[in-house]
Amino acid sequence: MAFSEDEKQGWLARKRRRERPRPFFYDQRPVGVCIHCQAPFGMADGTVIGGVAVCDDCEECADF
Ligand SMILES: [Zn+2]
Repeated sequence: MAFSEDEKQGWLARKRRRERPRPFFYDQRPVGVCIHCQAPFGMADGTVIGGVAVCDDCEECADF
């Protein structure tokens, strides 16, 4: 099934966000590994609540 134009734009927007330069002044040590995409993320890039870690990208679009 081909991407619809809307899906394509959403995907590109997510891709761009993922590739945005990280602010260097934040602590860059990973604070968790996303349960959704398994990517490690730092203080500024995700949330850890009750031992569950979710990166910002997944928190926005995931359905859990
Ligand atoms: Zn994630």
